[in-house]
Amino acid sequence: MTRLLHRQIHAELPMAVGGRGVELFDSHGRAYIDASGGAAVSCLGHGHPDVVAALQRQAEKLAYAHTSFFTSEPAEALAERLVADAPAGISHAYLVSGGSEAVEAALKMARQYFVEKGEPQRGRIVARRQSYHGNTLGALAAGGNAWRRASFQPLLVETHHIDPCYAYRYRQPGESEEAYGRRAADALEAKLLELGPETVMAFVAEPVVGATAGAVPAAPGYLARIREICDRYGVLLILDEVMCGMGRTGTMHACEQDGVAPDLLAIAKGLGGGYQPIGAVLLSRRIFDAFAEGSGFFQHGHTYMGHPMACAAALAVQEVIARDGLLANVREMGAYLRERLEMRFADHPHVGDIRGRGLFLGLELVADRETKEPFDPALKLHARVKTQAMARGLMVYPAGGTIDGSRGDHVLLAPPFILDAPTAETIVERLGQALDAALS
Ligand code: PMP
Repeated sequence: MTRLLHRQIHAELPMAVGGRGVELFDSHGRAYIDASGGAAVSCLGHGHPDVVAALQRQAEKLAYAHTSFFTSEPAEALAERLVADAPAGISHAYLVSGGSEAVEAALKMARQYFVEKGEPQRGRIVARRQSYHGNTLGALAAGGNAWRRASFQPLLVETHHIDPCYAYRYRQPGESEEAYGRRAADALEAKLLELGPETVMAFVAEPVVGATAGAVPAAPGYLARIREICDRYGVLLILDEVMCGMGRTGTMHACEQDGVAPDLLAIAKGLGGGYQPIGAVLLSRRIFDAFAEGSGFFQHGHTYMGHPMACAAALAVQEVIARDGLLANVREMGAYLRERLEMRFADHPHVGDIRGRGLFLGLELVADRETKEPFDPALKLHARVKTQAMARGLMVYPAGGTIDGSRGDHVLLAPPFILDAPTAETIVERLGQALDAALS
């Protein structure tokens, strides 16, 4: 009998007792290749000696000091580093303890920004239906998943979701990527005009849609057009890179590849690589100035923000990534893994699409490759693939969501940045076996 409430949705689980490199080990001595990085978290793999040593050093020096009494070396150094590596215009970092907290803080920053600027009527947000932005009440309001939202209506932030929700061309083959990107971005403008742009504070989006869609990148030009539309109507752009950020797509931030800088950028997961709970909002100078010139500061805070242990872990993770040139490995191994997936599944009758960026790759599973007909949702194919993969010592992240209105199953791969070629091959081999077993 378990006293862990979260096991109501995960009844049958092995017990993890250790981890080393790309592998996790359970209490029966079985090894699992962590091809999902948990949920795109474990970017350095498990038990990295440099991170463990940094945590030990920090624990001996100082585990905790409340932010209303002290600042700390690791928090100052991490903020410095995050701003130095940030997209253009970012001037400060706000440190929190995870992805939902980061999105929640970004939404509150947007709200306070407009209150300080004397535009309190800007309270609504626009987001995309195919999205997940976290599970606290504000972040939940931003996400489009009807099932997650259902029990908690009315949600606290008035959100309007748009379709087409992201630049996803698999089901629009007649249209060029650029044309699809334009059409998807123009849906934002249409929604702003319908609502009255002066009532909207922010547009929220993931540059590469992760958990709800299986690594769907923005089409070329999509985010640049979104940026223009936001600027035209004075709406802030919040990018949620909680899952796709911090090197996962081969650059530090995914939006770099689109040449777009947001007003607010939410990061988490890979920031601390799973060694500590940590997240951050990177904010632009104009947001900072509005607080400074207005009521003086951002009216928010958590007991554990800027936690010295969490910051020390994040600093160590980011230092190892830079020192070992791991972003180059993300690009190289990302291309290799994708090539192996394409070779293995090119003729597979139920793999419709292989997509993503860097080591953030998704497979879309379809009942019929020709018609692109999705599987019956009742089959819960994505969950079956996960179970079959676990039985073969492989962790993959399953997702079943709506794609442009129709149901679809996806498998997300987000292995650690230290991945090598033989492990990539084993991942593809085991995934192929798991898929066939799940379909049989
Ligand atoms: N935003 C995105 C894009 C995410 O993928 C997630 C987590 N899957 C979150 C926010 C929420 O992060 P957390 O679970 O750390 O609260």
